[in-house]
Amino acid sequence: MLKRILHPFQDVLLQRKLCVGCTFPLDKANRIGILTKNSDLVECKCKRRYVFDRKLGQYRRASLQEEQQYLKNLKK
Ligand SMILES: [Zn+2]
Repeated sequence: MLKRILHPFQDVLLQRKLCVGCTFPLDKANRIGILTKNSDLVECKCKRRYVFDRKLGQYRRASLQEEQQYLKNLKK
């Protein structure tokens, strides 16, 4: 029951481009790297990572796979 309430709330925060953990504006968060041609990886000051979709102009939580993909790219 609690999860049903929490998840839409996180979506609302992301739609407003705010971190779901600390509500810091993600537009001011640290852009740590390019993930794909159309998306950037962003790290909030609370260390949560997000993917910014440049086509949609929206943020979403980065998956573990995406974080690993980014780290792999760093080593090249
Ligand atoms: Zn945060």
